[in-house]
Amino acid sequence: MLPLRVYPSDTCPMSAPPVRTRRLSLLSTGELDRARVLDTLINNLDGMAYRCLLDANWRMIFVSQGCLALTGYSADELVHGETLGWEDITHPLDRARVRGQIESAVALGQRFAAEYRIRTESGQIKWVIERGIGVLDEQGELVLEGFIEDVSSQHALLQARQQAEQRYRSIFEHASEGIFQTTVEGRYLAANPALARLYGYPSPEALMCSLDDIGRQLYVKSSQRERFRQLMEVHGEVLNFESEVYRADGTRLWISENAHVVRDAEGRALYYEGTVQDISERRRYQEELERQANHDMLTGLPNRILLADRVEQAIARADRLGYYLAVVFIDLDNFKFINDSLGHGAGDELLKAIAARLQHCVRGTDTVARLGGDEFVLLLSDHFRASTVISQLRRVLSEIGQPVMLSGREFHVGASLGVAMYPADGEDSDTLLKHADTAMYAAKNSGRNTFQFFTRELNRVADERLNIEAALRHAIEHDELEVHYQPKADHRRRIVGVEALARWIHPEYGPISPDRFITIAEETGLIAPLTTAVLRRAFAAARGWNRQSSMPLRIAVNLSARLFLSGDIVAHVAGLLQEAQLPPALVEIEITETVFMGDSDAVVGILRDFKALGVQLAMDDFGTGYSSLSYLRRFPLDIIKIDRSLVTGIEHEEEVAMIARAVISLGQSLRKTVVAEGVENPAQFDFLRFQGCHEFQGYLLSRPVREHEITELLQAGGVLAAPAARPGSGFAPLA
Ligand code: C2E
Ligand code: MG
Ligand code: MG
Repeated sequence: MLPLRVYPSDTCPMSAPPVRTRRLSLLSTGELDRARVLDTLINNLDGMAYRCLLDANWRMIFVSQGCLALTGYSADELVHGETLGWEDITHPLDRARVRGQIESAVALGQRFAAEYRIRTESGQIKWVIERGIGVLDEQGELVLEGFIEDVSSQHALLQARQQAEQRYRSIFEHASEGIFQTTVEGRYLAANPALARLYGYPSPEALMCSLDDIGRQLYVKSSQRERFRQLMEVHGEVLNFESEVYRADGTRLWISENAHVVRDAEGRALYYEGTVQDISERRRYQEELERQANHDMLTGLPNRILLADRVEQAIARADRLGYYLAVVFIDLDNFKFINDSLGHGAGDELLKAIAARLQHCVRGTDTVARLGGDEFVLLLSDHFRASTVISQLRRVLSEIGQPVMLSGREFHVGASLGVAMYPADGEDSDTLLKHADTAMYAAKNSGRNTFQFFTRELNRVADERLNIEAALRHAIEHDELEVHYQPKADHRRRIVGVEALARWIHPEYGPISPDRFITIAEETGLIAPLTTAVLRRAFAAARGWNRQSSMPLRIAVNLSARLFLSGDIVAHVAGLLQEAQLPPALVEIEITETVFMGDSDAVVGILRDFKALGVQLAMDDFGTGYSSLSYLRRFPLDIIKIDRSLVTGIEHEEEVAMIARAVISLGQSLRKTVVAEGVENPAQFDFLRFQGCHEFQGYLLSRPVREHEITELLQAGGVLAAPAARPGSGFAPLA
């Protein structure tokens, strides 16, 4: 504590002598010191300490020196003046309110604080705050004691702030742009009515309640919010950030956002705030402009400009996926004639009809473009063989060749197609188009309504394929396909079943691999009669063997995915079983993974129908696909056939061995029969046997052989000797 120094009243360095009251004059010497200190303090405060009567005029009994600065009246005038009371100084408009406030506080024995205006001696209006309390004076009379200070400047500041806030609020409320504040995580802290309107909510509150995860609920592309957040993190702001968003009713609109991060003193992000503009109209306009610049107005197809772009994209895709890309130049054969004789109107109709047909022949990843006149270009992606391109080209020719009605008459239009393949025939858009164009002229010269590849080799392949197709059709019609049977043995090499494999020996080309002719059969629809022929023979053979032998012998047949998903396959197989009088329990249907890639409900339905028929179901070539394991659990399969690729090398490649081991144990745990395909040597056989594989098929045990050879094997006891392994190609040429 500082030692208190006592000054005589007239020598106090800080203040003029206070107005003495009765109370002060009665103090003892010890108390006087304290009173002096109090006086000094009080008189040096900004403001006025007082004691007054609770009368109608608030007459002052004591006021401190601050009185003069506060009111312009001296303390003397106020205390001793006959007429001047605090009531007179109080602003007339505030008098009643202040009196009410003070009187009720006093009645309750409480402190009060009242804010009001006073009028000073010079007529100036000041805002003051008066804090005080009712106390009993030395005579036991109720008086008011307190302190009044000038708060005009704070008041002005507050008022200015309120007005400013009012102005900002008004901007916020009435802005035509959406304004928001959100947490970094994506919850709204504030939204204005324009934003609510923009997003289709009845009020900002409704918007804030409904959207509690902006990233997930607002943006059509859910990664947008993350991009927004990243930009905010890196740059502290986003400018003209365009996104498509959902309205409350699920419709979409395009917006542009400008926003920044609001941080605390330490630089931590507190929240984001920004504005939103509806740019749907502009986007539509832009898109329309782009569409007009990039599309052919008559047909709506991409034009030459967009085509170049698409070729580049398709090339990148082909590189990425390791597929071929075919660039096909199409020129209509009779267009000039129709245009000249029927007029441009009819010509346009024809072009539109052709455009629609072309679009019908392509897949989602393909492009149909019109270069002008009667020239169209197709980009056919995702082909991993020339043969599938050929099938698609034939479909295109056949679609274009359908009759068209023009001016009430039926016309037939042909087309010449020229094909350039990427990467063989060119590595960029210009070269590919030029070569496709060259090939198209060759097609025109070779008799129209046909196609030509730029590369001669491919033309040869195409020709050959057409020949093979015709020959296959002929072979099926004349029942010239054969069926060979490859035994499947148990771990003691006893034959437990055989797999029927189609064989075809072409009079000119010699034996053709099933891998080749089955694909052609699938692409041309010949697979249905082919399968019927194979099944008919196989079932009849199986029935013969089972009659002769006391041991049941199962027959496995392959069903192509194409056929599997077509209509009445189960009924068809049931009919063939019936015809052969073969018990369904002796039959295994082998299907490949492609079957499972279709509509899985439909697939499960068909699989169940097969099970109900009583046949067994095997997954062929297991391990070659991607999600084979998940299929095993979902679909009712009895047998897993481990693909040859997982058997080859099993004896000396640890990785292959490991996968095979895992597949076998998985099969066992799911209670499936595990069959190994392509067992070519004793080491593989021993390894697989040791791992607990149930059945074995492969050149080690037997190649696919003719029916009578199986009969002989069975008659000899049905146990397969182990010949020295012979290198095989997977296709056993006929002896
Ligand atoms: P798949 O059903 O996986 O048939 C097994 C293939 O492996 C047969 O080839 C068989 O000859 C061959 N193979 C068997 N053991 C060995 C071996 O130890 N080493 C080697 N390197 N190969 C072996 P194939 O006969 O050429 O048949 C190929 C594919 O054609 C079959 O594969 C099957 O998917 C299909 N296929 C054959 N016949 C038919 C049929 O009638 N209908 C259907 N839809 N597809 C068939
Ligand atoms: Mg098979
Ligand atoms: Mg197989």
